Amino acid sequence: MAGLAEPNALVDLRGVSKSFGEGERRVDALVDVSLSLFAGQVVGLIGPSGSGKTTLLNVVGCVTEPSGGWMRLNGEVVYDQRWLRRDLRRLRLEEIGFIFQTHNLLPFLTAAENVMEVMELAGARSAEARARAGDLLDYLQVGRRKNAMPAQLSGGEAQRVAIARALANRPKIILADEPTAPLDSERAGIVMDLLRRIAVDQEATIIVVTHDESIFDRFDSIYHLRDGHLVSIENVKANAHRPIDARRSDETARNAS
Ligand code: ADP
Ligand code: MG
Repeated sequence: MAGLAEPNALVDLRGVSKSFGEGERRVDALVDVSLSLFAGQVVGLIGPSGSGKTTLLNVVGCVTEPSGGWMRLNGEVVYDQRWLRRDLRRLRLEEIGFIFQTHNLLPFLTAAENVMEVMELAGARSAEARARAGDLLDYLQVGRRKNAMPAQLSGGEAQRVAIARALANRPKIILADEPTAPLDSERAGIVMDLLRRIAVDQEATIIVVTHDESIFDRFDSIYHLRDGHLVSIENVKANAHRPIDARRSDETARNAS
């Protein structure tokens, strides 16, 4: 199967399936899903409830083991009919950033400590983690709140701290499950602009599960799932397939205007 792969893709799935249960109870949550995502891309994942969105995010995030197929992440084949990596926890920690609908920050750590924690789990020294946490929180414009406890943060601030934490280990693959659901449409737009900037600056790819139609125009492409099948891929941006250097100059022009 490797012959069909896209060599530069950060996320590359070929014929991935996932079934839950056996016999009459069997549910085919993903059926023969193939897709390739590249640095700088922000894609939407939409579909009715039960269509397999969360399952697909969890498979890409190496949380759920597929039932078959082939998957490569950031250049490494991680699944080929079975997991090829034994240390999946480390793989998740280093390669993948998760952003959830609710921020799920640890309530007994400050904003900065929440960000530092995942770096220290990955082996960073404390001083290094503290410096990067500060930089990331500044980048996300919540640097002045770095010593606040999660309960003291507004919803938007907490979401930014959670995004900082998801970015802490410089993952190339960022997975977001309804990240704008608790936000009004203006704030949702701001978060989407932020994700687009992150994708370009960090040369990452971002998959966003959403029902929020107000942000559909912010995606490069929208992947439609139905009954576990990837039924269509809609290109939203004219440059959906342009290389990252072209996107970077687009983004610079946009920010300047
Ligand atoms: P979505 O996120 O699009 O709502 P899911 O990926 O959560 O859909 O679910 C897809 C299908 O797989 C559904 O029929 C769901 O009931 C089933 N499913 C998901 N997770 C499990 C599980 N852990 N055990 C059994 N069935 C599951
Ligand atoms: Mg879901």
